Amino acid sequence: MSHYFGTNGVRGRFDELTPSLALKLAQAIGRYFKGGKVLVARDCRLTGPILRSAVISGLSSVGCETIDLGVVSSPTAEFMLKRLEADGCVIITASHNTPEWNALKVVDEQGIAVSRERGGDIERLLEGDLADWDKVGAISSHGSATQEHIDAIVELVDADRIMEREPRLVLDCGNGTASVIAERLFKKLGCECIMLNEDLDGTFPGRPSEPTERNVQGLIRKVKAEKADAGIAWDADGDRVIFVDEMGRYIIGDKAFALSMLWKLGKSEGDVVTTVATSKAVEDVASRFGSAVHYTAIGAPYLSERMHELGDGAALGGEEVGGIIWPELSLAKDGFMTGAKLAEALCEKPLSAWLDELPVYFNVKIKVPAKGEEKDEMVGRVLRYAKAKKLESIDVDGVRVDFKDAWVIVRPSGTEDCIRIFAEAKTRKEAERLVEEFRKIATG
Ligand code: MG
Repeated sequence: MSHYFGTNGVRGRFDELTPSLALKLAQAIGRYFKGGKVLVARDCRLTGPILRSAVISGLSSVGCETIDLGVVSSPTAEFMLKRLEADGCVIITASHNTPEWNALKVVDEQGIAVSRERGGDIERLLEGDLADWDKVGAISSHGSATQEHIDAIVELVDADRIMEREPRLVLDCGNGTASVIAERLFKKLGCECIMLNEDLDGTFPGRPSEPTERNVQGLIRKVKAEKADAGIAWDADGDRVIFVDEMGRYIIGDKAFALSMLWKLGKSEGDVVTTVATSKAVEDVASRFGSAVHYTAIGAPYLSERMHELGDGAALGGEEVGGIIWPELSLAKDGFMTGAKLAEALCEKPLSAWLDELPVYFNVKIKVPAKGEEKDEMVGRVLRYAKAKKLESIDVDGVRVDFKDAWVIVRPSGTEDCIRIFAEAKTRKEAERLVEEFRKIATG
């Protein structure tokens, strides 16, 4: 079992994910990619340049040709995999985490991020030989990745229509990698752009990187003050996205996903892939278009793996925190493609009118203290209960039980001494009742 790899890469503060560990891991990653061609990208964190040098050195020392893409968004780096015919990619980013964190995210040639399980395969290659002195890998850089990504997105939306409509957008880059792509993309689409936190700065001075409602209050105020059509905010590496409608209402990630389904499934067929923690709104919208929903464990790699298995049968993938996969572009969550699709949708009607098409649900979330095996026992009790009562349940990650207009999930926390119980229903009271019922079942 993996020691360094978490759900999505190796993450740590600078005294944990040190340059020497990054070098060793990069050598193992290079062996995993069999000395092939590997792209290296990073976000704007202060430790990025140091880790980049260590990673490139490690990859090259075991014979990989490495191409440095510089500071680009994660979806940009993942988009470049196919274009540069690379065997893999290492992205140095801690996504939405606070600035003292960093991480190595590894993506394979299909565009699928390496999960905890596959990370174990890489760790088995930590010990090994270096390349001979005359077989070390060449090191080069490629400076046009962002432009190529922008061009590809523009091709996939109705740019002429957007140019005619000229949506007025507030773009909150959170000082992350959105700063290098968002304004260029939306200007190219003919949008009027009002920028917020648009200076690339690895200390994230404008707002914390995670685009939660609390963290994007500045965006909400600006959308209202500027009478904009919508606001968009990204996390530091640009894979996650949230929206604000023209009335200043925050649109959480799984609603952004459900909206994306309205925009895509209205025009093309296919199934959707999502994690067991997304809103029932996703299933409601899917059934409106006759699309099946495939549920995976929580974590982006599992979504991409499933999308890859389904091939042309998958129209869209998405997770609850606002990572949406458009397979016509890549198997990466792409916050910029999602934003461009919003601009296209605004040509038809205001964002608030799109939002009105989504069913309304209320959420309740609690934590129940539990340690080690206790967590599995609690989840086990819920699973046995669901089986005994013949309830519709999914157990790929904890247990999710679905009712007609509600659902509840009970899952062990990966990082804290607790289990999490989350319920969604048509009324707050019903969601509260469900959480309490399942707390009782879990605790026996
Ligand atoms: Mg991210």
